[in-house]
Amino acid sequence: MSALAEHPTAAAVLDAIPCYPVPPHGRSPAIDALRAARAGRGLVVGADGVILVLRRPWLALDVPITEPLAASLPYGDTGGPRADLRCGLIPVDLLGCVLERFAGALPNESAAFILWNEDSGLFTLAWPIIEEATPSRLVYRPPSIAPGWHLVCDIHSHGDGPAFFSSTDDADDAHATKIALVFGRLGNPDGTMMVSRLCADGLFLPLPRSPFSGGSDDQ
Ligand SMILES: [Zn+2]
Repeated sequence: MSALAEHPTAAAVLDAIPCYPVPPHGRSPAIDALRAARAGRGLVVGADGVILVLRRPWLALDVPITEPLAASLPYGDTGGPRADLRCGLIPVDLLGCVLERFAGALPNESAAFILWNEDSGLFTLAWPIIEEATPSRLVYRPPSIAPGWHLVCDIHSHGDGPAFFSSTDDADDAHATKIALVFGRLGNPDGTMMVSRLCADGLFLPLPRSPFSGGSDDQ
């Protein structure tokens, strides 16, 4: 087979994010290996469109990034979307601790991180070093993450203000793979407001379900 790229650097880049067509029948060992990888990403091209396959120790994500292909191609189907927490659901108690801390920081904004250890399977909370906090602005240094630990969930509050993803949040989240949550109206008697998304390779995706255990849709 001919090489995909002449230049070794270009070949290495393509190798890091491979692109595989789905065979019309049977399985593809290359696609199976990509899906089973501890970490990695690539594109899978099927007659039903192109999907991004992204793997992290804590996440298995298959997400369509095109419509079904208009051309008639003898390819099989990609198998459709998938977003599974390989780490399992996050204990809801941790979220309770975060919300307590956010309430204590009012009227200022605050932030917290949920980490997961791939060896022990344990979750833990990490707090950033806050450099400046006001009701509308938060400047912090994220915690350093030890080997074996992974950032699963990035949470911040907008204090009493509404919860939404700001343009600053979009810029911060563009290069990360994580669950992002924003809480707002924390002091509001009518109830707290929350927005969520899964950030992956510059995509912002809706969460198919709550990532926390003990919720009403817990299984
Ligand atoms: Zn924000």
